[in-house]
Amino acid sequence: MNIAVCVKQIPDPATPGELDAESKTLKREGKLILDESDSYGVEMALQLADAAGGGEVTLVSMAPNNEVSGLRTALAMGAAKAILVSDEALVGSDSLSTAKVLAKAIERVGGIDLVLTATESTDGYSGTIPGQVAELLGWPSLTFAKHVEIADGKAKIQRQTEAGYDVVEASLPAVVSVTAGVVEPRYPSFKGIMAAKNKPVDEVKVADLGLTADQVGWAGARQKITNIEAAPAREAGEKVEDDGTAHERVVEFLEQLKVI
Ligand SMILES: Cc1cc2nc3c(=O)[nH]c(=O)nc-3n(C[C@H](O)[C@H](O)[C@H](O)COP(=O)(O)OP(=O)(O)OC[C@H]3O[C@@H](n4cnc5c(N)ncnc54)[C@H](O)[C@@H]3O)c2cc1C
Repeated sequence: MNIAVCVKQIPDPATPGELDAESKTLKREGKLILDESDSYGVEMALQLADAAGGGEVTLVSMAPNNEVSGLRTALAMGAAKAILVSDEALVGSDSLSTAKVLAKAIERVGGIDLVLTATESTDGYSGTIPGQVAELLGWPSLTFAKHVEIADGKAKIQRQTEAGYDVVEASLPAVVSVTAGVVEPRYPSFKGIMAAKNKPVDEVKVADLGLTADQVGWAGARQKITNIEAAPAREAGEKVEDDGTAHERVVEFLEQLKVI
C-alpha cells in the first residue's frame, strides 16, 4: 500500500514567531522544522505500510527556500522519499492555493492509496487543507481519526467526537486527517538519520505541476489578512485558598469552562 503524508515544515515554535508588518503573514526565514502534528501522520503511515506487508511512504511538502530540514527528520523516521514544492511564486499562497499544490504533488507521485494529514498545523491551524485536498483529488475525506484500519480496499476510522467516537469508513483512495496522540511517533535512529541523507527528494516548481503562477501566491489568493493585533497579555490566574471547600470552586470553574 502506498501512502502519502502531507508534512508541513514550520518555524520552530520554541522561538517566538514574527509577523511581517506589510504582508501580515508569518515570517518564514531561516531553518524550518517538521511540524510535530505531522509526526503522528508519518508514524501512522509507517505502521499501516508495515501492517499491509509493504508499500512506500512518500512525504509531500510545500515550503519556501527549498527547505528540507523537516523532511529529513521524517525521512529519518522511515519514509522512503519526498516531493517538495518550493517556488517564489508561492509566496502569499492561502489555504486553497496550498491545497491545489499539495493535490497536484500527490498526483505527480502517482499510485497513492491513502493520504494522511494532521487535523491542523501548529502555525496556521486553519484545519482546512485536508478537506480541500480530498475534494481536489475527488477522493473521500475522513477527518479527526484517532484510530485507522485498512482492510478490503477500505479505510475505517474512529472519528473523535466530544462524547467519544464515531466509526466511519470509505473506500480507497482516501484522505484521512489524524489527531495528535493517535500513535507514538518514533525517534529517528542514528542509522535512520544517516540513511535519510541519501533518500530522494523530488524538488519541483509550480509549472512542473501544471499550475500557473496566477493560481497560487498573492495572485491566486482568495483570502486576505486585513488586520493583525497583538494578543492581550495573559491575566493572572485565580488563587483558591483551601479552607476545605476549595474543590467546590475548582469544580465550578471547570464547569464554567465546560470542561466537565
Ligand atoms: C493571505 C495569506 C497569505 C499567506 N502567505 C503565506 C506565505 O507567504 N508563505 C507561507 O508559507 N504561508 C502563507 N500563508 C499561510 C498558508 O496559506 C497556510 O500555511 C496554508 O494555507 C496552510 O494552512 P494551515 O497551516 O492553516 O493548514 P491546516 O489545514 O491547519 O493544515 C492541516 C494539515 O495539512 C497539511 N499541510 C498544511 N500545509 C501544508 C504544507 N505547506 N505542506 C504540506 N502539508 C501541509 C499538514 O498535514 C497539516 O497538518 C498565507 C495565508 C494567507 C491567508
